[in-house]
Amino acid sequence: MMQLHRSLQVVDGVYFYLWAGQGINSNSVVLANVLDGQKPHVLIDPGMTGGAMGENPLESLTSVMAEDGLRIDDVGLVIGTHCHPDHFQAVDEVVRQTGAKVALSAPEYEFLKGPGGAFYGGFGTVAPASQPSMLLEEGELSLGSSNGLRTEVLICPGHSPGSICLYLSDAKILVSGDVVFPGSIGRMDFVGGSMRQMKESIERLSALDVEHILPGHSSVNGPLVSGRENVIRNFQMVRMFF
Ligand SMILES: [Zn+2]
Repeated sequence: MMQLHRSLQVVDGVYFYLWAGQGINSNSVVLANVLDGQKPHVLIDPGMTGGAMGENPLESLTSVMAEDGLRIDDVGLVIGTHCHPDHFQAVDEVVRQTGAKVALSAPEYEFLKGPGGAFYGGFGTVAPASQPSMLLEEGELSLGSSNGLRTEVLICPGHSPGSICLYLSDAKILVSGDVVFPGSIGRMDFVGGSMRQMKESIERLSALDVEHILPGHSSVNGPLVSGRENVIRNFQMVRMFF
């Protein structure tokens, strides 16, 4: 099995899976052992099952997770930061394998049912047939009782109408999807993008106390942003786009 991800344990229970293949695919994040019940892991942005270059990112992710002792079968919830195929295409396959629940933000699901689905359906890379069983709203996400990884959903439109960032406030981790990257921000020229909304989203995120930004994709500036000073500098840099 070709391993095309690199694994980085950011803090206890938070695993960042950096996509290192050639074709397009997103990074993934796993919150380990946060749900009650038989399937305790949360998988954020499962990525793709296939694409150009003959790669199968989901198989790679499954294999790399297994080396961290995390079985894909034990994923009980899949969260999409947004519905773009490079982040969310594999959701159907993960659900088929695991029976996991699926969560998108309410506005992103509206978008997927409308212009987003029409657009990405025509891309040759499917919009998920798996219906979200949870529609995420702004605010605290209750995952389970156990491990104290307090997680907040921030609806941050601009890249897509219902893009979310997840803020793990105790660990000071921001899972930023395609909103903020190292030294850069997400594209605003796709269907559903908005520069005005992106500006507001960035302003909002820059006010948070963050130590680690885990983005949906690497940039020329690196795979992630770590350290409070670097995070502050990163927001100063990206605010200059507006
Ligand atoms: Zn995207």
